[in-house]
Amino acid sequence: MIKIRNLVKRFNKHTVLDGIDLDIEPGEVVAFIGPSGTGKSTFLCSLNLLEKPDSGTIQFDDTTYDLAHISKKETLRLRRNTSMVFQSFNLFKNRTVLENVEEGLRVVKKLPKAEVKEHALAELRNVGLEAYQDHYPQHLSGGQQQRVAIARALSMKPELLLLDEPTSALDPERVKEVQDTITLAAQGGNTMLLVSHEMGFVRKIASRVLFIENGKIVEQGNPEEIFSHPKTPRLRSFLSDFE
Ligand code: ADP
Ligand code: MG
Repeated sequence: MIKIRNLVKRFNKHTVLDGIDLDIEPGEVVAFIGPSGTGKSTFLCSLNLLEKPDSGTIQFDDTTYDLAHISKKETLRLRRNTSMVFQSFNLFKNRTVLENVEEGLRVVKKLPKAEVKEHALAELRNVGLEAYQDHYPQHLSGGQQQRVAIARALSMKPELLLLDEPTSALDPERVKEVQDTITLAAQGGNTMLLVSHEMGFVRKIASRVLFIENGKIVEQGNPEEIFSHPKTPRLRSFLSDFE
């Protein structure tokens, strides 16, 4: 079980995350929905210290990280366990697809050279892009680039995969292939935190949905509860914008 406690993040005087607590079971897909500017990205970024929170802890089975007071060494360990997939893919442009996936295995995991390639190819195979191993990102569609980014994130075997609006920068006809890749990763037992505005996808993939507003979890439940029986007026109003 992963336990997040009292996550607080302020930008100047603006409290963006107001003491978030969250438990995640292994294999769960927890989805965040909510209006923009309510702290969803900040939440994900705080968990792998792309943003430094003002307070908060994250506990994996045997390790607790105090996010506001963390050493460089612990930060690296934490990042390995919380790989992130961004809206904008963020692949290394001057490296091939294979090299992009190899990077973390080489630099972070420090695997021997032969194993690096073998593992990276296996990850690319899982997302159906082994044939593109020698291509550069710019020659791939956005959907393919995002699938490479997912392969790269999964190559770290993270305890928690963080996905921040992974399909929102894609052409509509490319959305489904990335959703299918994420679904496969979920079926493979990967534990995930997903931010998405694709309500149909969230409904299908999430084991639990959290509605966040103004830095607080306002309502949570399984997809049926959240989408078919929303309790708070705020969530009802938010969902009505998607109808
Ligand atoms: P969401 O992902 O839900 O759209 P964000 O987490 O990106 O929201 O942003 C939450 C709030 O924090 C917004 O009001 C945003 O303006 C503010 N914010 C995010 N990053 C920074 C930053 N680096 N400096 C100052 N304010 C920020
Ligand atoms: Mg965001």
